[in-house]
Amino acid sequence: MIFEETNYCGLCRLPRRVSEAPCQICGDPAPPQFSGEFPSTLALRLIGERRLNIAWAELEDEVSRGIESGAVCLLLAWLAFAFQDERAMETWSHECLRLSPDSPEPHLLLGLTLQRAERWAEAVAEYDVALSRPCLEPERRERIEGLRLACQANIPEF
Ligand SMILES: [Zn+2]
Repeated sequence: MIFEETNYCGLCRLPRRVSEAPCQICGDPAPPQFSGEFPSTLALRLIGERRLNIAWAELEDEVSRGIESGAVCLLLAWLAFAFQDERAMETWSHECLRLSPDSPEPHLLLGLTLQRAERWAEAVAEYDVALSRPCLEPERRERIEGLRLACQANIPEF
């Protein structure tokens, strides 16, 4: 049996090639942060191969067949972020929150989107919600704290 390891991005935690910088999904400039198991689903494998349009079609197909989970919605939201389709990103983030209300991920995504739009105060508010979720991994918590500080620094003081 072959044990294949895949590298994963430290910020979006999606499969990512070692040489890819910045991450094509979330824009993280740091190299991939950890390696783990070979992706378990077709959509994740396609994302790992950066066949993003095919991954999108596969995920939409899953939704149309009623296989709509928080995880599927989250992947659609990350892909929409990669495509810079803000409307789709918001739709799928909110759908993910409806199915997985405790997930920090949609708030991270909304924060990144608001940060990209230079809407600093709103980005900070979303990062704060993400940071309030207990299931956030420590190393990712650190990353989000860093993003939050970067946004905070851009808010003028009165
Ligand atoms: Zn990433």
